[in-house]
Amino acid sequence: MPDWIVSFIAASLGQAFSFLAVVSLVFVVIWRWGAKRLEGRRIRTKGRPFDGAQLRHELVNTGAVLLVGTAQGALISALYDRGLTTLTMDLGALGWGGALALTVGLVLFNDLWFYAVHRTLHTPWLFKHVHSVHHRSVDVNPFTSYSFHVVEGALLGAWVIPALLFVPMPMPVLMAAHVIGTTNNLMAHLGYELLPAWWTRAPLLRWSNTATFHSLHHGQLKGNYGLFTRTWDRLLGTELPSYEQAFAAATASGAPRPATDA
Ligand SMILES: [Zn+2]
Ligand SMILES: [Zn+2]
Repeated sequence: MPDWIVSFIAASLGQAFSFLAVVSLVFVVIWRWGAKRLEGRRIRTKGRPFDGAQLRHELVNTGAVLLVGTAQGALISALYDRGLTTLTMDLGALGWGGALALTVGLVLFNDLWFYAVHRTLHTPWLFKHVHSVHHRSVDVNPFTSYSFHVVEGALLGAWVIPALLFVPMPMPVLMAAHVIGTTNNLMAHLGYELLPAWWTRAPLLRWSNTATFHSLHHGQLKGNYGLFTRTWDRLLGTELPSYEQAFAAATASGAPRPATDA
């Protein structure tokens, strides 16, 4: 068997194992250990609940999306070996300040990219053939995070390789942006709101996305398209008006709960 196939299989298994280990740990802590303890923080209290069929669907699609991610990693590695990327292994001339600024820049760019791709995926043809795979999960949980159609997985990460051809990119910055993106995606699909009640009133923090924000998107199938911040939904008028009320309800036990579905 050629070496590149062996390395591809090893990289795929390594990535799948580490990703599933993290997601399973979050699932066990929040959805099993926390089932009673965090009851008041459960965002979705009615409608079709998470079940075994949903979990199987999510695991199959997550596996396929992880393969796309590994293929992208293999392509980056091949381009790097041929000296075709701007990747450097250390921070180089950027220093810590420049690296931090570039990381923030990448996250903000990814926020806009996600919003634009996601909103496009909600057009009728793309929704039916591609994005409905992700929306099969209504009661979102950590295993929903990477349960996409492979085309969606490729589109969401499509900016990375062009960026590595033109923007000076230290590996630690790329890794930091990847870890922030994965953590944020997991948080958005937690199904429980763990942030404090004052979050949506705090300056700056109120602009960030929350688990409630994205849960409402899955319940209503429209609006709240952003994943990192509320910026583009606010600017373009797509934020669901029930968001702050739903957030208040999920963070204060006993508060009246607005409908999470359309
Ligand atoms: Zn969607
Ligand atoms: Zn989602």
